[in-house]
Amino acid sequence: MICEMCGKDVPQTRAVIVEGTKLNVCPGCARFGEDYRSSSSGGAPVSQSVIEQRLDRRERRMKSKDIYAGTTSVELIDDYGGAIRKAREAKGMDLEQFSASILEKKGIIAKVEANNLVPDDKLIKKIEKALDIKLTEAVQSGTTVGGGSSGKMTLGNFIRKE
Ligand SMILES: [Zn+2]
Repeated sequence: MICEMCGKDVPQTRAVIVEGTKLNVCPGCARFGEDYRSSSSGGAPVSQSVIEQRLDRRERRMKSKDIYAGTTSVELIDDYGGAIRKAREAKGMDLEQFSASILEKKGIIAKVEANNLVPDDKLIKKIEKALDIKLTEAVQSGTTVGGGSSGKMTLGNFIRKE
């Protein structure tokens, strides 16, 4: 189960209401919201279609980033292009073979490898899976809430976000 607030993979999530929307979160994030059951009239969890859940989750992930400064978010690494190129070459594929293998245009991948194009979530996942690499890292997205590890914040964290 993925926590919809911090993105952590936990054995079990809890449904809570945050800012009027239902989120499935890990126990650590549950304190940010009200218990879902107590604030709904019926008590039984509403069953949504998988597609709806996915759309919701995507929307929420963006929202929760703004609302909860200080939570950890996942960002693309600085030299994602270099990492892709290195991993691809290690597998002995040229640009053409690699882009064909993941059904993308060669030009797109060339731009991504040159750090000239930021791949979207779907493409990141596809490349990570094909090359067996990690292109994202967890970063603290704010300094106002919590604290502790905020000393590691650099200006680069902010610039890279946009
Ligand atoms: Zn969480």
